[in-house]
Amino acid sequence: MSDILIIGAGISGLASACFLKERGHNVRVIEAAAEPGGCMRTVTHKGYLIEAGPNSTLSKGGAFDDLVRVAGLEAELIEGNVLAKRRYVVKHGVPTPLPGSPPAFFKTSLFSVRAKFRLFAEPFIGRAKTEETVAQFVRRRLGQEFLDWAIDPFVSGVYAGDPDKLSARAATAKVYALEAEHGSLIRGALARALRGKASGPQPRGRLVSFRAGMQALPRALAMKLGDALQCDAGATALTRNANGRWQVTAGTTVHEAEHVVLATAAEQAAALVEPLDAALAAEMRAIYYPPVASVALGFARAQVRHPLDGFGMLIPSRERLKTLGALFSSTLFPGRAPAGEILLTAFIGGARNPSIAELSEAAIVEQVLADLRALLGIDGEPTMVLVNRWARAIPQYELGHLERIGRIDEALAKWPGLHTRANWRDGISVADCISHAQAFAARFT
Ligand SMILES: Cc1cc2nc3c(=O)[nH]c(=O)nc-3n(C[C@H](O)[C@H](O)[C@H](O)COP(=O)(O)OP(=O)(O)OC[C@H]3O[C@@H](n4cnc5c(N)ncnc54)[C@H](O)[C@@H]3O)c2cc1C
Repeated sequence: MSDILIIGAGISGLASACFLKERGHNVRVIEAAAEPGGCMRTVTHKGYLIEAGPNSTLSKGGAFDDLVRVAGLEAELIEGNVLAKRRYVVKHGVPTPLPGSPPAFFKTSLFSVRAKFRLFAEPFIGRAKTEETVAQFVRRRLGQEFLDWAIDPFVSGVYAGDPDKLSARAATAKVYALEAEHGSLIRGALARALRGKASGPQPRGRLVSFRAGMQALPRALAMKLGDALQCDAGATALTRNANGRWQVTAGTTVHEAEHVVLATAAEQAAALVEPLDAALAAEMRAIYYPPVASVALGFARAQVRHPLDGFGMLIPSRERLKTLGALFSSTLFPGRAPAGEILLTAFIGGARNPSIAELSEAAIVEQVLADLRALLGIDGEPTMVLVNRWARAIPQYELGHLERIGRIDEALAKWPGLHTRANWRDGISVADCISHAQAFAARFT
């Protein structure tokens, strides 16, 4: 059994630690911040339960359920309101539901008749010859309107990203795989549906959180780890001694371990590996993280005319607004707002609007309110406002990202016992981080 030091107690580090511990390894975790969770941060404020980072995650069971069991949180797990299936996309200033079925697709005003018929050509379009951006991929296969009114807002919602920069293969891997495996998205989707029917019911993707919010999970995992987790213990140096063991300095303590897992954002991992391998550090630093602000807004129910009967509303870049979208947080999960009030969580910034990093909180709120008032029919001032700023929010899987990860892994192979596990590789969602942590733990013998 190995002894392993994990640097970073975000969900990647904590899930890796717990899965490794379950397999009998000796694990310790050090975390720079005062509490565990990293991006998973839940705040209570004026009777509202507010997510500063992820609001929910899409679980298909498997590793996610395993981790919830390890944390002992089965009874605290909650599923999003059924209304969350409805998602609005703003078109010409009007929140319009995304079609959820083929008949609704043919009726929707989001796409022109021409764009709808353009879909029939999709199965006959060949595969890409070189790596494409998300925008190039979608324009080629589905046409400009699908990019503008479906994929562009989706990419904003997930990555706060720019479809002209993100790699289709890395950032939208599941969709890209349909072309790679079946030569067509439509043929691929049909084949998957048929395969699903033949092999019996498939696990349904569930939009989940916890009664006390997303940070309940890292907090419970931290309890399970007990003394094996130390907060307020940022790693400042990483070296290898003559016996090939790793030494990590955190404050006045020097930890020694056979294996070290860097479970931090790419920039902090780069700072630690810089003295060992400057080229490896440069590869890590090249991963771009744009700034994002999440703005929680409370209103009396009567102040908002929109029914808020859905997951939320995404705003395509073609609308030329600054706000990326807003979640209807108190619709999604009950108990997130005081009685008679509603909670919205808006997002602003991202790869196409990084200048929000220079704006004051007051200016950010003013901009978000200016955008949302007309879209949702909001009267008067919010009864509660809380701005959470992320200077470096979400890693962008840009063109060449997978090659970069390949070069990082090649460089790491020269340093036995040094590993990376974080959202800047293999997937950014909480559920992705957990399933890759489980696979990583399984590889340790
Ligand atoms: C605003 C926002 C909204 C999001 N919304 C969603 C969503 O709705 N659904 C979803 O599934 N995902 C969402 N995500 C993505 C998801 O939350 C993250 O990808 C995931 O939580 C990242 O986990 P991680 O452990 O890889 O990294 P992090 O959470 O960044 O954890 C890294 C940890 O390392 C620590 N650290 C850094 N340097 C050191 C050091 N030198 N020594 C010790 N510790 C160190 C940090 O303090 C931090 O705790 C969102 C992210 C953001 C920012």
